[in-house]
Amino acid sequence: MNAARLDALDPLAAFRDQFHIPRHEGEDCIYLCGNSLGLQPKNAARYVEEELQAWRELGVEGHFRGRRPWKDYTDHFAAPLAQLTGAHESEVVCMNSLTVNLHLLMASFFRPSAGRYKLLIERSAFPSDRYAAVSQLRFHGLDPEDALVEVGPAPGEPHVRTEELVAAIRTAGDSLALALLPGVQYLSGEAFDIGALTEEAHAVGALAGWDLAHAIGNVPLDLHDANADFAAWCSYKYLNGGPGTVAGAFVHARYGDDPTLNRLAGWWGHDKATRFRMDPDFVPIPGAEGWQLSNPPVIAMAPLLASLELFTAAGPSLLREKSLALTVLLEDRLDEHLGSAVEIITPREPARRGAQLSLRLRAGTAAGRKAFARLGAAGIVCDWREPDVIRVAPVPLYNRYSDVERFVAVLADALR
Ligand SMILES: *Cc1c(COP(=O)(O)O)cnc(C)c1O
Repeated sequence: MNAARLDALDPLAAFRDQFHIPRHEGEDCIYLCGNSLGLQPKNAARYVEEELQAWRELGVEGHFRGRRPWKDYTDHFAAPLAQLTGAHESEVVCMNSLTVNLHLLMASFFRPSAGRYKLLIERSAFPSDRYAAVSQLRFHGLDPEDALVEVGPAPGEPHVRTEELVAAIRTAGDSLALALLPGVQYLSGEAFDIGALTEEAHAVGALAGWDLAHAIGNVPLDLHDANADFAAWCSYKYLNGGPGTVAGAFVHARYGDDPTLNRLAGWWGHDKATRFRMDPDFVPIPGAEGWQLSNPPVIAMAPLLASLELFTAAGPSLLREKSLALTVLLEDRLDEHLGSAVEIITPREPARRGAQLSLRLRAGTAAGRKAFARLGAAGIVCDWREPDVIRVAPVPLYNRYSDVERFVAVLADALR
């Protein structure tokens, strides 16, 4: 079926109108960069304005009055985040930023002992995750040379495979304290089996923590049933919450009210009923909310609330269905029109990826950069990763099938 026909039949087509689409020379951009920064929901401005108005008109009373009193503001995020992550509402919380949350969660869940002290990541991990892991090791007086296990792709392979991670977990065995892994790898677009890898980590007595930066809002998640120990994500990629907006975290219910857990505490994680009594001793809220430190930055969170309502309205099954179809169309058209000029380094099986395809341009760096510039000049927004990869992510909330077709046509022309 051609793209125009697919767009005409798309049950989610109307959601595009709920977003501001950046313009290029008087026309909508072909925006395929939702994996990096999601677009602005039209309702975002209204949600922000409502909080500015509450502040203007109510002052400090805004904590307790108005449409969404600030003291309970994070409550509005529990249901949509629970749905997106496959969690109980008490297992998720909207707070801080991603790297901060990784550190806070590692403070609780990376507790190295003399024999069990290693931290496993993948070799091509996002730099911030690696910096966080290395600094956690140093914080505990450990030498990353010895204590950091980095699992890389086999020689000549574009991405690390589940089997390699499994083998590395088993090899580390009793010495492994924590595996910190991505739900979807940011560069290759590969989606990992969170349940299977968590089970492997647990089988050697280790814990498994998940960075869902490229997974949330992109692929279906079932963190509770997958038994993930903890997870964190940012909200500005597929979640469309706006640049640097407030991130999120998941802590499995089995830790919810474990009093022996070490944690770095702040007043916003304290029992809600007695928080404002300002008692000296910390009593954590059961569940993920107990990890909060500070009162929430509501103006920064407001756009995210606008976006999460769109995810809820569209529903997870239609979103996944369209996402799969968009990416399969992209793959088919690339195979058809570009053949050997690009190598798709993302797994070919739809179950092992989300929206994004990562394309290695066989023409090399110089010709690749030139082709990428041609895309930009044609109003197509995607991203370039040195030395020769273009990442392109058609997302189901605002992309059209015809966006995919246009991208492939311009890229084919640019590489001709
Ligand atoms: C986007 C991304 C980050 C960014 O971290 P911030 O703390 O939000 O700046 C970190 N890790 C991964 C895997 C990412 O994809």
